[in-house]
Amino acid sequence: MTRSDVPPGAGAVLDVDLTAIVANWRTLCARHPAGPVAGIVKADAYGLGARRVAPALRDAGCQHFFVAHLDEALGIRPLLAGSMLGVLNGLLAGSEETFVTDNITPVLGSIPEVDRWAALAGRVGRKLPAILHVDTGMARLGLDAKELTLLRQDPARLSSIDVLYIMTHLVSSELSGDPLNHEQRARFETACIGLPPVPRSLANSSGIFLGEDFGSDLARPGAALYGINPTPGATNPMRPVARLHTRVLQVRTIEAGESVGYNAIWRATRRSQIATAALGYGDGWPRSLSGQGKAFFDGRAVPLVGRVSMDLTTFDITDHPDIHTGAWLEVIGPNCSLDEVAAAAGTVGYEILTSLGGRFHRIYHAS
Ligand SMILES: *Cc1c(COP(=O)(O)O)cnc(C)c1O
Repeated sequence: MTRSDVPPGAGAVLDVDLTAIVANWRTLCARHPAGPVAGIVKADAYGLGARRVAPALRDAGCQHFFVAHLDEALGIRPLLAGSMLGVLNGLLAGSEETFVTDNITPVLGSIPEVDRWAALAGRVGRKLPAILHVDTGMARLGLDAKELTLLRQDPARLSSIDVLYIMTHLVSSELSGDPLNHEQRARFETACIGLPPVPRSLANSSGIFLGEDFGSDLARPGAALYGINPTPGATNPMRPVARLHTRVLQVRTIEAGESVGYNAIWRATRRSQIATAALGYGDGWPRSLSGQGKAFFDGRAVPLVGRVSMDLTTFDITDHPDIHTGAWLEVIGPNCSLDEVAAAAGTVGYEILTSLGGRFHRIYHAS
């Protein structure tokens, strides 16, 4: 492969297909007829660039966005005029005013957060919008049973809050047979009794594929937008959106018995050709792929040998005489999906994507 669209000095290139992300959002909308589908763009849109991804989704008609941190929200708020932008991690004390001035919606997950938001509403003299987060089993964030009882006993606590949604988050949605999914759905129903009769938000990416019981007034997918399979074990219904290529910097010949890389964990058993490529754990390419990952060239697998180091990865190209200095090796793409790379590295696609560093040359495609 040659690339004329990449500067000559680029050692690795990440291609992000914005059209495919939008197509994935439309697929999710079709799978979730119960209500609209938000775009989760936390962690810089799972590593792919929230400042490019969020406006593309907004232009396609997406009207609800979520990030984890207030700082992330501030970074993209100017690009999303008119859309709801929620902060999943809640309302840290002292940050309340910023939520108001920048029109960012807090996801309130505890009584102190509710009370601080209500108090600010009192001070500014108008109802303030928020989302209530109910814990139905994740036990990380969200109102617990005791706190829900307090809210039911004292509805005035919410009287100055415009509750846009009540939401909860599924623990095991990617395991469609896990009884926890239906248990959480039932707990969510019960939890909402006695709370304001407002729209609800339930499914993440995999939740959308659990069937119509998991439909709600707002789905919240992230991973599936970015091509991660929301139905592990079955065919991926989403389009891939990211490709990663790395460049061969040098090719060398080593003799049988010689080693490659840190700690000499790989030794040649024959006279071998080694290609060193410009990619390492400093780019988010996992060190756990040492000795077991692979790349592809012209559709053929090229074994990764030795340790993945910070900036460099080595491949045994003895059986690929057509690979020369300057060649581009595919490490995520049509031949090696994100989920396959993740499985080889002993992790999930979420971690691979969100780890992708800022060092790549990035190209955004919109067809
Ligand atoms: C990250 C997150 C999501 C999106 O989850 P995916 O599995 O990536 O679709 C939805 N809701 C909450 C509360 C989250 O933290």
